[in-house]
Amino acid sequence: MKHPPHPRPRGPRLGLECAAVPAPGRFLGTPLAVAALVAGAALAPAADRTVLSIGAHAGDAEITTGALLARHRRLGDRVVMLHLTLGEGGNPKLSPAAYGEQKKREALAAAQALGAEALFGPWKDGELRDTEEAARYVADVIRQVKPTHVVTHWKTSLHPDHEAAHRIVNAAVLLASLEGFESAHPRHRGLRGVYYADNWEDAEGFTPYLYVDVTEDLAAWKAAVTSYEFIRGGISSFPYLEYYEALARVRGALAGKRFAVALEVDPFAKKRVLDTLP
Ligand SMILES: [Zn+2]
Repeated sequence: MKHPPHPRPRGPRLGLECAAVPAPGRFLGTPLAVAALVAGAALAPAADRTVLSIGAHAGDAEITTGALLARHRRLGDRVVMLHLTLGEGGNPKLSPAAYGEQKKREALAAAQALGAEALFGPWKDGELRDTEEAARYVADVIRQVKPTHVVTHWKTSLHPDHEAAHRIVNAAVLLASLEGFESAHPRHRGLRGVYYADNWEDAEGFTPYLYVDVTEDLAAWKAAVTSYEFIRGGISSFPYLEYYEALARVRGALAGKRFAVALEVDPFAKKRVLDTLP
């Protein structure tokens, strides 16, 4: 097994938190390269994976994809979370600075419980914007982490930070693969697919496409996500834990499993070209 059995959370790992904005490279907006990359993903062998889950706020990646990450970690894969902001603005009883400290501690504890590495972006809660600078930053993270699979927010959301994250990540995936995008790290062309997480705030137009059995990983997910006070209850009125456990059961029921995590992909990634019927 390539990866050691013990979790190595690297929250403050460097190079990433303070990743320099790379020198200007050519920014290509076309989704065609991404389309080709995602379309090829379905037939790629499932081995030696690195799963990078990118959330707008600390807690997003864990609540939606934590069980998936725990599963892949258990299978020996490397799993990494990038929290673009700490989501530090959501506690009416604490200042953003104080709650941000708390969220960072909670994120590190959750990562440790999942056996994941945690990385933190430099943005503030509510201020994430779909800028070229943000895409360059995330592209550089992708070049360093070298994911085989990226999971992030679906395109429509109640939260502008989530929608910005979707666009930033898609632009970054393309940039990271381009020779013309110059940064301190070589281009990364090993990505097999981009997937979108099943998030209650991102539900508009989200149709589950891929179901992954997480029956054996739900306990690890619960242990991890309850590192967060807002998930345990008491900050938000939304019943996070109950909702996502019930959602995993509902997705599992539709997949013929006890618990499952459902993911969406871009419409162009659903195109399959075969020599015969499958
Ligand atoms: Zn969020």
